[in-house]
Amino acid sequence: MPAVPSILNADLHCHSIVSDGTLTPEDLAQRARANGVELWALTDHDEIGGQRRAAAAAKANGLRYLTGCEISVTFAGETVHIVGLGFDAEDPRMVQGLADTRDGRGPRAREMAEGLAKVGIHGAYEGALKFVGNPALISRTHFARFLVETGHCKDTPEVFRKYLTEGKPGYVPHRWANLKDAVSWITQGGGIAVIAHPGRYKFSATEEYALFSEFKAHGGRGVEVVTGSHTPAEYVEYADMAREFGLAASRGSDFHSPDESHCDLGALPYLPGDLTPVWELLADRIQ
Ligand code: AMP
Ligand code: MN
Ligand code: MN
Ligand code: MN
Repeated sequence: MPAVPSILNADLHCHSIVSDGTLTPEDLAQRARANGVELWALTDHDEIGGQRRAAAAAKANGLRYLTGCEISVTFAGETVHIVGLGFDAEDPRMVQGLADTRDGRGPRAREMAEGLAKVGIHGAYEGALKFVGNPALISRTHFARFLVETGHCKDTPEVFRKYLTEGKPGYVPHRWANLKDAVSWITQGGGIAVIAHPGRYKFSATEEYALFSEFKAHGGRGVEVVTGSHTPAEYVEYADMAREFGLAASRGSDFHSPDESHCDLGALPYLPGDLTPVWELLADRIQ
């Protein structure tokens, strides 16, 4: 594989119907190419069932590809997302770890539906299932689509605000993977662990410092700096965190759907030139 430049239209975070996106891996690859993406990773939540299709579609579209996944982790009582890139998607520890992480989603979804029924929204479990592409991966996003379809809310952010976040009727607390395990599943298979969209977590400065320190101590090596989930001020803030903690930087739209996502595949500013891009550490993992 030839050396990969540091200024690159890389999109290393997005979702397909294998988790809570609405496009197939093939449609995403085509859209990525149309938008000028040069290096791509599909990062479905807690699931790598789309990796083969994504890698084949990347090849068919002339895109370079890294294996990807976004793992749900519980840290300091909050949900944190860890993106894995360039890992071995056949590694049994990764495969089993993700299966265990997905396991609680079914019962959680039924409890969410019970909570919604208490405020007069009936049939939410069955309704959400209609939007699910992968029965092992029912998520809050699928409930949100059902609540928009049935006219309870105008869009998915409104559903999250009114129904699906802490203290709201459809919210069910959940324990995901732990940070150390998630990082090790990724790194044992030759990949790099990346803190996803750190600007989205409701941590105090002390908790955030603890997240970055522990993540690094467990072998984590990257942080998303430029992501569809950050404001331009957060690009600057987390570029500084990358420098402070000696982490490589990643870039990804977090694209889910043409109808819902405000940031399209490949449509982000480049990473600041002085940061080490994660793909520089993954040159031998690029397909
Ligand atoms: P889950 O893994 O089931 O807890 O669902 C998390 C997913 O919900 C995230 O990956 C996002 O796709 C989506 N999500 C979370 N918060 C919001 C929000 N405020 N507005 C729209 N989508 C959201
Ligand atoms: Mn999602
Ligand atoms: Mn996320
Ligand atoms: Mn995501």
